[in-house]
Amino acid sequence: MRPVVAAAAGTGAAPLAQLRTVLSAAGDALGCVPMLDVSPAERVEQARRLTAVVPAVLAQLHRHATGAPAVPPDPALGHTAASYLSLVLFYDGRPTAPCGSRSTLAWTNIGSRAVHVCWDQFLAQQRWNAGLTANTIIHEALHTLGLGETPPDPRVITAKVAERCGN
Ligand SMILES: [Zn+2]
Repeated sequence: MRPVVAAAAGTGAAPLAQLRTVLSAAGDALGCVPMLDVSPAERVEQARRLTAVVPAVLAQLHRHATGAPAVPPDPALGHTAASYLSLVLFYDGRPTAPCGSRSTLAWTNIGSRAVHVCWDQFLAQQRWNAGLTANTIIHEALHTLGLGETPPDPRVITAKVAERCGN
């Protein structure tokens, strides 16, 4: 996406026009399709995916505008899954609507670092099936990194986590 950001920044257009240009290009890369062709739930999902990239795009456009070099990813930072989880913010999700479903153990918005844990059902599951609750945290962490719920499918995500991490 960096070349698109650089191209948009080079147009000299207004900042919001640059952002619009980048988001138009990002939509395809993020698997977004025309809004009229999808269900309302998928529209929300697509909006979340696009919204998730806005902070990074704005930061890159700002650096271009100020003449500062882009900040590339730094593998020397040594981020691991465990260190990443320490950056995720966990909140009591009990007052939230999604936790009204007894089958929901936790939820997040795609690309957000905030995970809302549905404590009552999460703790009940943890007593009997600690593997499921651990996999739920990994599942939600993947969402914080930008993985959408559909596609693939919530069950596919959890099944893949269980396949790689055990139950
Ligand atoms: Zn999910």
